[in-house]
Amino acid sequence: MKTAVVGGGILGLTLSHRLNRLGHEVHLFEAAGHLGGLACPHDYGSFVWDRFYHCILPQDRHLRALLGELGLADELRWTVTQTGYWARGRRYDMSNNADFLRFPLLSVLSKARLGAAVIWATRFADPDALYTVSARDWLVRICGRKGYEVFWAPLLEAKFGTYHEQVAAVFIYATLTRLMEARSGVASKESFGYVSGGYGRILGRFEEALRQGGVAIHLGAPVQRIERMADGDACRVRFEEEGASIDETFDQVFFTAPNQLARRIVSDDLLPHVEEMERRNPASAVYLGTICCALVLRDALTPYYVLNIGDSTVGLTGLIEMTNLIDRDAETAGRSLVYLPLYLASDDPRFAEDDETLAAHFTAELGKLFPDFQPDQILHRVIHRERFVQPLPLVLDDKPSPAAPTKMARPFQIVNTSLLRCATLNNDEVVALVEKFVETNSEILRGGSQRRWRRVAAR
Ligand SMILES: Cc1cc2nc3c(=O)[nH]c(=O)nc-3n(C[C@H](O)[C@H](O)[C@H](O)COP(=O)(O)OP(=O)(O)OC[C@H]3O[C@@H](n4cnc5c(N)ncnc54)[C@H](O)[C@@H]3O)c2cc1C
Repeated sequence: MKTAVVGGGILGLTLSHRLNRLGHEVHLFEAAGHLGGLACPHDYGSFVWDRFYHCILPQDRHLRALLGELGLADELRWTVTQTGYWARGRRYDMSNNADFLRFPLLSVLSKARLGAAVIWATRFADPDALYTVSARDWLVRICGRKGYEVFWAPLLEAKFGTYHEQVAAVFIYATLTRLMEARSGVASKESFGYVSGGYGRILGRFEEALRQGGVAIHLGAPVQRIERMADGDACRVRFEEEGASIDETFDQVFFTAPNQLARRIVSDDLLPHVEEMERRNPASAVYLGTICCALVLRDALTPYYVLNIGDSTVGLTGLIEMTNLIDRDAETAGRSLVYLPLYLASDDPRFAEDDETLAAHFTAELGKLFPDFQPDQILHRVIHRERFVQPLPLVLDDKPSPAAPTKMARPFQIVNTSLLRCATLNNDEVVALVEKFVETNSEILRGGSQRRWRRVAAR
């Protein structure tokens, strides 16, 4: 079976890996000159680390199993990290229950209600029902108005910008559930992990395994057109490689990047498939993007891995100090690595601003948090931009139909992160999504001969 996988992010790589094991002749197409998509590494001068911050959680069993398959299980490192919360001009520790109880901006009653609400929500709420209520209304209901206004509202504005009143409560539910699971039973401490060498190391192993398995990896090869052949049984894929435009026919094409990008390249008769995806999957129509300033600094800024920003006068979604999770001597040449992300609607005009303008913005915002910060602390600075990052569930009129296992369409199927249901965007969910998709369609995907493939697909 000759199969094309479009997109060499973690999803496309995992799918290629699984299809390769099932005996497909896989061609993986990646527009960039390297694999990894959002998880790819960047050269920061004195070291190489991820373009965007990534951590692994102890409960990430699908991702950890994959790392085991790639021979990287022993390379996982764990750190008990600290979390901070910035509000009203100063920072507060928020690493454990005792910190939360000391938080002075809420009354004892508001804190008790907020804490009880989080426990109740993560144990008993019906996540499907949370697609029909906004995060704001739900949080006001369960945490009280004061708890919402002081604690949640600035966080929602920082994360969702113009969408902060439209985002569905399920997003908050999924985030809280993931974070609560990360806090182990022992003293409720957050334990986060990483692979020594970062995602660059994981991607290197992945590429090696795929090439050894016989997967043809086309790098710097954007797919420009996907069209169904006249007999309806195959697709023609037009891609660019080394300056040439090439047409090749495949029995099956899987598209793993966001739907908005699929729309630009599929033929008219494949568009209904994209539209069907958007109808059935509540988070597929709107994506948040991110502009993220990464700074290599001489010294540490904070003791936290994440400093959440609960202050709408600060134009940052948060501050992530990677070197409070990873070993800075071993991984970043003794430097401190800090990310300043800003989440934005994917059509936000700031994506078009030049690096200097954006750098000035980030420096000014950092100055609000650390008035004594000296620019000569900065050894290296880079601005990363990505318009389509996070599929966003906006409030629906009705509960979505249950997340049916996706039955694959022939000869073109989208498998992307908008299929994630009641979940945050992370690589454990991405790997789990691929496993579930392959399992659901195992009969058709295992179909050895072309004849059997057609017979099974036709049922
Ligand atoms: C700021 C940030 C922080 C994150 N933190 C974490 C974290 O802590 N833990 C965690 O597990 N996850 C984290 N993630 C999420 C993680 O990065 C994603 O889950 C994962 O990268 C999604 O992979 P993907 O393959 O679905 O998409 P992508 O990585 O977007 O890959 C899609 C690929 O398709 C390619 N492509 C698009 N169009 C074409 C075309 N026409 N032809 C060929 N190729 C094409 C793109 O170039 C891209 O490489 C974070 C992400 C961001 C942005």
